[in-house]
Amino acid sequence: MSLTTRDAQVIWHPYTQMKKPLPHIPIVRGEGVYLFDEEGKKYIDAVSSWWVNIHGHAHPHIAARVAEQLNTLEHVIFAGFTHEPAVRLAERLLPLLPGDQSKVFYSDNGSTAVEVALKMCLQYWVNTNKITRKKVIAFKDAYHGDTFGAMSVSGRSIFTDPFNQLLFDVEFIDLPNAGNIEQLKSKINYLSNEVACFIFEPMVLGASGMLMYEAQYLDELIATCQKHGILTIADEVMTGFGRTGKYFSCEALSLKPDIFCLSKGLTGGTMPLGVTTCNSKIFEAFLSEDKLKTLYHGHSFTANPVACAASLASLDILLNPETLQNIKRVEHMHREFAETIKGHPKLKEIRQNGTILVMEWETGQDTSYLSGLRDKLYLYFLAQGIILRPLGNVLYILPPYVISNEDLEYIYRTILQALKDI
Ligand SMILES: *Cc1c(COP(=O)(O)O)cnc(C)c1O
Repeated sequence: MSLTTRDAQVIWHPYTQMKKPLPHIPIVRGEGVYLFDEEGKKYIDAVSSWWVNIHGHAHPHIAARVAEQLNTLEHVIFAGFTHEPAVRLAERLLPLLPGDQSKVFYSDNGSTAVEVALKMCLQYWVNTNKITRKKVIAFKDAYHGDTFGAMSVSGRSIFTDPFNQLLFDVEFIDLPNAGNIEQLKSKINYLSNEVACFIFEPMVLGASGMLMYEAQYLDELIATCQKHGILTIADEVMTGFGRTGKYFSCEALSLKPDIFCLSKGLTGGTMPLGVTTCNSKIFEAFLSEDKLKTLYHGHSFTANPVACAASLASLDILLNPETLQNIKRVEHMHREFAETIKGHPKLKEIRQNGTILVMEWETGQDTSYLSGLRDKLYLYFLAQGIILRPLGNVLYILPPYVISNEDLEYIYRTILQALKDI
């Protein structure tokens, strides 16, 4: 029996309508930007396997460090105990982040990194005896994960529909632009005394369709928050670790957030790990003789040493100057291709931030995750050996930074052909 058939008997896949799903392709091996299926067919992973893989698959340096760690210490409870990989990773990560981040809190994934950030902010105000501060501000189109707290601060959408009644109330604001920024600032000013924190994806909103906005307006929103003591959370789960052409998207800001959420590229896409970092202002609000001021949060696999070792190895590669050159090269290639398709009648909009290139297809209808174009585009590129996974009619390229110019050119050529064929 084929793996696809066996899979269909026992597996429930994520984000997949399981009634007559497209067949799940058995992947047996990865190398660099390539994935190989059972028949030896090669695919270019142009979405970095859901945005996690930044240095290519089965990277030998990460593999070696992971193997070494597995043979030394695979896991240890992280309450009451510590280990070198967790401490070393925090020592290396904190100075790399914009601003004055002072502590690392470990969890398992992007959603839990967001849950921890929200709990830090909400409890900050409980611990400082300002219990009226319990509202969260978020963008109407945000995506922060699939657990209940993360869903609550995400935009209401088809992803959250069945649960909307159970999600906590959030003050949603539009993405900022020249036309509405004053109005958004007024809204924050008006709500100020009730607001605990503002959470945002800096400059690129991923899952809601790779929406983009400008750093100068985020700076203005953060300034307004800071004026009222509202805490700010940068969810860099997708944008972190070079994706936007800088190590972190928030480097484009002049003001710095209080908290960062990191995951996805953190381990180089090798294994799950989440990080929430905060500045000393937040950390100190939890220091007390009073046990009730403790952050009572933790996961069984908090700071897993193997995942920390993978992250350290991934950082080695990220900080190698060659990687920054690759990032700049991909950014440049994208920009040149974007120029050549500018104004194409089948494209509603083309936008780019760093290594992310987005082509929103004209469908004569509103942009939608459920657009019928999605499967057509997905299967078209798959047949050409390219993994692109459009968000509805929003096609985007988000490749590992090691992708060659030849592979990028092949993807661009195939997109041009798709613009003719579909
Ligand atoms: C993917 C994502 C998350 C959730 O991360 P998971 O590891 O999938 O739980 C949170 N925030 C952003 C911005 C993301 O892109």
